[in-house]
Amino acid sequence: MKSATSSPTQIARRGLMLVISSPSGAGKSTIARTLLDIDKHVSLSVSVTTRQRRPSEIADVHYHFVSPREFERLRDSDSLLEWAEVHGNFYGTPREPVETAMAEGRDMLFDIDWQGAQQLQEKMSADVVSVFILPPTMTELQSRLHRRAEDSEAVIATRLANSRSEIEHWREYDYVIVNQDLDAAFDSVQSIVKAERLRRDRRHGMFDFVRGLLEENPKL
Ligand code: 5GP
Repeated sequence: MKSATSSPTQIARRGLMLVISSPSGAGKSTIARTLLDIDKHVSLSVSVTTRQRRPSEIADVHYHFVSPREFERLRDSDSLLEWAEVHGNFYGTPREPVETAMAEGRDMLFDIDWQGAQQLQEKMSADVVSVFILPPTMTELQSRLHRRAEDSEAVIATRLANSRSEIEHWREYDYVIVNQDLDAAFDSVQSIVKAERLRRDRRHGMFDFVRGLLEENPKL
């Protein structure tokens, strides 16, 4: 009786590792932020980076800002689940928060590049769902980078030049979204999350639910 009436949304499942990648300026961070605001089951994997903090960023919320020496220490002590050099700075995912979240069945969002996505895919493929966000045009990508106005001209030029090699990795992802319209792109990400949470192989609690369903009333 209990199982048959309990909400299927309460059925225990494994946490998702939602990886979102895109070239800088394609809208990935806005989509990630909106998802974190709306969906309380998702928490952000806060990366460590050797990059300078931008004025709008808060230490330990957006990134853990560390020195190159501290980064090396973390990397060499196996405290990072993956790491990469991106646009001349080092970035990495702290291992411990991810392992805790997965064990507790919570979902984690990773705003990381293709190198990080590849490493997570190799290590934890069953839990990873990867999404690549494309800009509608390269011209639009360039103007979004300028509109953000938080980086110098030189930094924008590097990011734009690097965006081509990032885009070349689009085929390595499970899902691809063209961010022409932010609301529509966000809707697509939400649909992916909803569907992936329903996958049978993630819902280990389903065994008990179905057993309860079949034992509920043998006369029916
Ligand atoms: P930004 O400097 O604009 O915050 O990030 C630059 C790039 O580094 C973005 O593509 C972002 O997704 C990526 N990035 C951020 N954190 C990590 C991380 O921990 N690992 C990897 N591999 N890439 C990251």
